[in-house]
Amino acid sequence: MSSQINDEITDIAMTSTEADSSQTHGHEATSSVNADDASSSNAATPAGNEGQASRQSNLQRIQQRKQQVYNWPHNKKLLKLAIYSECQTPECSCNGWKTPAPQPTVKNPRADNQPLASFNDPCRNCNHVLEKHVTQLQGLPVAEVNRLLGAVVDVENIFMSMHREDDHDTKRVYYYLFKILRKCILTRSHPRIEGPLGQPPFERPSIAKAITNFVLFKFNSLPQREWQTMYDLAKMFLHCFNHWNFETPSVRKLQVSNPEDISAYQINYTRWLVFCHVPAFCDSLPHYDTSLVFGRTLLRAVFKSVCRQLMDKCHSERDRMPPEKRVSG
Ligand SMILES: [Zn+2]
Ligand SMILES: [Zn+2]
Repeated sequence: MSSQINDEITDIAMTSTEADSSQTHGHEATSSVNADDASSSNAATPAGNEGQASRQSNLQRIQQRKQQVYNWPHNKKLLKLAIYSECQTPECSCNGWKTPAPQPTVKNPRADNQPLASFNDPCRNCNHVLEKHVTQLQGLPVAEVNRLLGAVVDVENIFMSMHREDDHDTKRVYYYLFKILRKCILTRSHPRIEGPLGQPPFERPSIAKAITNFVLFKFNSLPQREWQTMYDLAKMFLHCFNHWNFETPSVRKLQVSNPEDISAYQINYTRWLVFCHVPAFCDSLPHYDTSLVFGRTLLRAVFKSVCRQLMDKCHSERDRMPPEKRVSG
């Protein structure tokens, strides 16, 4: 990771702390920092019940956190957004209010004892008062203010995920999405992901289409009931696929030696993080289902390992059942 990125991360870490110290209650700050990690690429594959459950509860926590923020008084919302908003003083280039340096005279300053920032507090960065950082937001409709606050919650979650992530490729993607969302809040625009990744769908036919067609064609001659079973199985497979945590390119490199395969996987992995995985917990970003936007290349790359893990899962589920309920096979 380049030193420039490291600098920016340090800077963001400070911003994130400031975001929390501007809130009245310390425990709220803590919950925004600790609770919301639905993203870890190292988490157990969500095909497992435990993985699925913890993913669900993380997504719920994020939605609760957003709801909590949407219910704040209007002024508190503006104080939060000030941290991510440009100073409106002519010729000032400050792009976010920063809390004044803590007073050295205060003994044992605890986060939950810090007073809420006020509109007259000067910015540590540009010295203009906080109010100058929110004048452009004052006439906005509530829905728009809430949309921006939703993006702030997402930015803070992406930041925490980035901080925790050990994998170099994944960390870089989080940083990329972090910058996109921050810029959206600053310019009050909607996120657009452009550039070399391209736009979904990335391949046609999609995995969903290909698998459904396969079932229709292959099991066409079976009796209705059996055909229905195969069709339901295919649906279940697609559902798992949409919620799968794919392995990082660096893990993949240990198993695959063909450089072309690895670089193709790297591209698809990045697309998956940007368009499918991260937007599943950061709903300010446009979300797409994995099985609808990827095709043959990704399916071929991951099919073996996904199937093996699904079979292992089925077998361990079966072994936990009482013997009289087990289906042979
Ligand atoms: Zn300023
Ligand atoms: Zn400022």
